[in-house]
Amino acid sequence: GKPMRVERLLANLGYGKRRECQQMVKKGHVVRKDGGKLKVGDKVAWSDLELEGGEGLDPAGPLLLALHKPTGYVVTAPDDENISDSVVYDLLPYRFGRRRPFLSCVGRLDKDTSGLLLLTDDGTLLHRINSPKRGIWKVYEATLADPLSAKAAEAAAKKFASGTLTLEGDFAPLLPAKLERTGERTARVAICEGRYHQVRRMFAAVGHKVVGLRRVSVGGLALAGLPEGEWRFLSPQDLESVF
Ligand code: URA
Repeated sequence: GKPMRVERLLANLGYGKRRECQQMVKKGHVVRKDGGKLKVGDKVAWSDLELEGGEGLDPAGPLLLALHKPTGYVVTAPDDENISDSVVYDLLPYRFGRRRPFLSCVGRLDKDTSGLLLLTDDGTLLHRINSPKRGIWKVYEATLADPLSAKAAEAAAKKFASGTLTLEGDFAPLLPAKLERTGERTARVAICEGRYHQVRRMFAAVGHKVVGLRRVSVGGLALAGLPEGEWRFLSPQDLESVF
């Protein structure tokens, strides 16, 4: 990143308000790697600095990470303070919710939905992944209240794939989607949009109620191996696998 005043750089990483970050510098909690004197107001780059004791600063942007969202957590903006529920930022290091630019969620998952949620501070990337024009498939595993027969699943799959199904309350029909029955009351659904409660409403349109929903992949990036409630940074290769 480009050099900027040290207190601003630290504040952007979420270490505190500008004043608190000035204190960090004055008290020597952050230092120059080369041992040179660091003063408030100095213009520095991220790579010039480390914490006292030699630990590195939190990574500079652009950041991309994957979170295995449990049910019960709400997807919000990081600066939304009018919310009493648990929010997904509660699952990340506290500073991550205070970074600038914002670390935003890529798309939404309902409070009652679990699974793979991506977060990034890169606005261009956010739009690239979200845009229905890109046609990135998001795959969900749904558990239904009632059994779904093989025959009913076949009929539902046809409807979902038709490109003509219009959900209650929507104007435009859904883009073609895929359904595969995986058990008595379970099915895998792939969609390339992200409309409000989309999968739940799709099942409602074929007379079924969803009682459990988990997103298992976004593009070629799968949840596999990431335990519920945990997160990890994504590498450039991970990102490539999304597209
Ligand atoms: N579809 C839903 O109904 N809910 C989600 O959270 C995601 C897709």
